[in-house]
Amino acid sequence: MSEARSQPRRDTRGVEVGKVRIGGGAPVVVQSMTNTDTADINATVKQVAELWRAGSELVRVTVNNPESAAAVPRIRDKLDMMNVPVPIVGDFHYNGDRLLAAEPACAEALAKYRINPGNVGFGKKKDTQFAAIVEKAIEFGKPVRIGVNWGSLDQALSARLMDENAARAQPWDAARVLREALVVSALESAERAVEIGLARERIVLSAKVSGVQELIAVYRDLAARSDFPLHLGLTEAGMGSKGIVASAAALAVLMQEGIGDTIRISLTPEPGAPRALEVQVAQELLQTMGLRAFTPLVTACPGCGRTTSEFFQVLAQKVQEHVRGQMPVWKLKYPGVENLSLAVMGCVVNGPGESRHADIGISLPGTGEAPSAPVFIDGEKAMTLRGENIADDFVGVIDDYVAR
Ligand code: SF4
Repeated sequence: MSEARSQPRRDTRGVEVGKVRIGGGAPVVVQSMTNTDTADINATVKQVAELWRAGSELVRVTVNNPESAAAVPRIRDKLDMMNVPVPIVGDFHYNGDRLLAAEPACAEALAKYRINPGNVGFGKKKDTQFAAIVEKAIEFGKPVRIGVNWGSLDQALSARLMDENAARAQPWDAARVLREALVVSALESAERAVEIGLARERIVLSAKVSGVQELIAVYRDLAARSDFPLHLGLTEAGMGSKGIVASAAALAVLMQEGIGDTIRISLTPEPGAPRALEVQVAQELLQTMGLRAFTPLVTACPGCGRTTSEFFQVLAQKVQEHVRGQMPVWKLKYPGVENLSLAVMGCVVNGPGESRHADIGISLPGTGEAPSAPVFIDGEKAMTLRGENIADDFVGVIDDYVAR
């Protein structure tokens, strides 16, 4: 059987964001964004640290007023004191030029600036504001993300493209004009930044929409028309499973085609849900696609009428939680542990077969089967667990294997 793989990664320029490289052949970077008031230094530091510990390699914070701009260097200092080296990205809209000019320490503390070309004014004002932010990026040696969003598309550009479309012999439909406006806004803004003096190696592009098919079409276009690294994300993806499924569907198609250098999963947080869930989803997406490895993957069958007790689900959950809980220590002590594969299977139908494909697998007794659970290690049956303590015994087997 030939090995299935995604298409080769698209060739892009490498952009350094602090010590993190986006594009240029680097692994796809996971990033996220805080939802604290940036001016609340302690809350923002806490959340940035949580996101970083969960695996976010860049964290974006909104910088929307003088208080938040003044807070950024203090947030940076506190993170440094806590040994949290994650680069902080500043998200600017409307007043980024004034905030960066008024707070040089903020301009210095940030590792990258995000500019939304649709939110920097109109006409001459737009060009002046855009140029002012780009000039700050040049002065402080920072990269920028030119991040277009269909919710805040440049109105003048949209009007221009609609006029051009009306003059076509066969006008495009409205959705295609909108896609073109997003792509052109990103590309023209990037070229304007280059004209002002920003190196091409300091520009990342994004063009976010909230529809899966539209997002795929927009990014295919962007990828075909430039070699800037691309930040992927489905904007306003939504809550819970809807947001996860929609984001994964869109980003998986693009990454399968080699498109995408950094990703963010934008989930609307459910009350009580950890912000870091979006980091976990991003990592799992990359790992299930075989693009990166972060933590041992647990394969588990869905269970069926052959698993009428809850024991199977409890064990699968216990193994998953144990692995996630141990990873901070394991990854320091055991390089490569993230590539480990585990299987927890509910009965003899697919249990032994699936378990043999994993590094460590267990096939639990289904309803009516003998109360024994064969364990497979490196494809061979290694032992049979029995009795009350199968779960703890199996976790012990995993720990022993990792330590070896
Ligand atoms: Fe059901 Fe067994 Fe298949 Fe799991 S492996 S889904 S328990 S038949």
